[in-house]
Amino acid sequence: MILLLQDQTTILWRPVYINRDSRSGIKLSFVLLLMVIVLSNISAASEANSERILDHPWDHSPITVYIDDSNVPEHYSPTYYAQIEKAMEYWVEGGNGNLEFTPVFKIVDSKDADIRVKWVENLEEVEGAPSGVAGYARPRISDGRYVRVDIVLEVGNYQGKAWRQYGDATMLSIVKHEFGHALGLGHSSDRRDIMYPEYEQRDNINPLLLSKFGPLLRIAALAALAVLLYLGVSWHRSKKKRKILEDKYFK
Ligand SMILES: [Zn+2]
Repeated sequence: MILLLQDQTTILWRPVYINRDSRSGIKLSFVLLLMVIVLSNISAASEANSERILDHPWDHSPITVYIDDSNVPEHYSPTYYAQIEKAMEYWVEGGNGNLEFTPVFKIVDSKDADIRVKWVENLEEVEGAPSGVAGYARPRISDGRYVRVDIVLEVGNYQGKAWRQYGDATMLSIVKHEFGHALGLGHSSDRRDIMYPEYEQRDNINPLLLSKFGPLLRIAALAALAVLLYLGVSWHRSKKKRKILEDKYFK
């Protein structure tokens, strides 16, 4: 097996032979190395701490929005409607700074709208969502563009056995987050970012919007460390051997 490593002393690419009895160990390190290369390319392509699913998810403007405030659940508050307007305003004014475009929204009274928003009493009960899910955005995609996004929001959840209705501030942050998805954004790993998935498994319902490599990245980081340690040790070992040979013949 030959590994090409950069020799720092000569700045030349030269083969370094790794002598090890266990072939499986070398194979494994190659697999790990491959993983690291692939995954580091993926993460390099994404933003430092946030993902964009689509740069320009809508092929037209304005983006029409239908807010269903007639078929509302028992604990719906009429003040929630204004939170949708505030959330749209937030994104029009730049949002978290990760949009490639400035959206223009138009509220319409038609279910044919691009983005449809509705409330349900409790997502776990009504939509069978996993526990902890407060809202979701489900896009329909055709030719790399959104053709429709359905946003479903719950109006409260169970804390222990007690039902707790969401206040306007909570509703606003949930709506901002889901609209971020409707504008093509994925999740952020920055806790202060509105696209941080505050509720665990918040969007489990939609695999597209799940963080693409959160858990994988952690594995990759460990693998990278292991590979670097392994290669570093091997490189030093072979360098030492060479040094001994060089000392013998060139000094
Ligand atoms: Zn989300």
